[in-house]
Amino acid sequence: MQNGVTVWFTGLSGAGKTTLSKLVEEKLRQSGARVELLDGDILRRNFTLDLGFSRADRMKNIALAAYIAKLLTQNGVIVLASFITPYQEMRNYCRGEIGPLIEVYVKCPLTECMRRDVKGLYAKALRGEIVGFTGVSDPFEEPVNPDIVVETDKQDADQCALRIVSFVQKYIQEREPQ
Ligand code: ADP
Repeated sequence: MQNGVTVWFTGLSGAGKTTLSKLVEEKLRQSGARVELLDGDILRRNFTLDLGFSRADRMKNIALAAYIAKLLTQNGVIVLASFITPYQEMRNYCRGEIGPLIEVYVKCPLTECMRRDVKGLYAKALRGEIVGFTGVSDPFEEPVNPDIVVETDKQDADQCALRIVSFVQKYIQEREPQ
């Protein structure tokens, strides 16, 4: 059976987590791997709509995601999880809970995320219509020990995705029983 691992994408809203996880999914599937996407927006919309964006609620949301990721990872799946995960405590929790984990810091300056404003959320946050919005009125702690950093304002999405795919494939090969 294929070795499982969770690839955890952390970064600001609009940094490119979802875009990159989809590209990585496509490339890994082409190589025959078993892959699942776990996206913060989808989880919140369908299962944790009652949770807000306080530190405690964010932690609950991440704990649920980490639990699902762990179950899949234990069963040989490559899980691509995209969550802002703004606190280092949360990233440490995921690493401790899931085990095999590759942390990808999807790095992009706040000004560029605001310029992209893919979902129109920065505009709303700046108008004060969303409280506790990461980067505007809520913190984003710089990841202290990411395994990969991709700078999405400097490299295009394909280049970023290829770097991640190579890292994942190498990681899995190194963990295969000799
Ligand atoms: P997030 O999931 O982090 O909120 P999204 O993936 O939804 O971010 O949005 C990122 C936006 O940035 C997309 O519109 C994407 O096309 C654009 N983008 C530009 N350059 C890159 C890159 N190098 N990597 C990923 N996304 C990029």
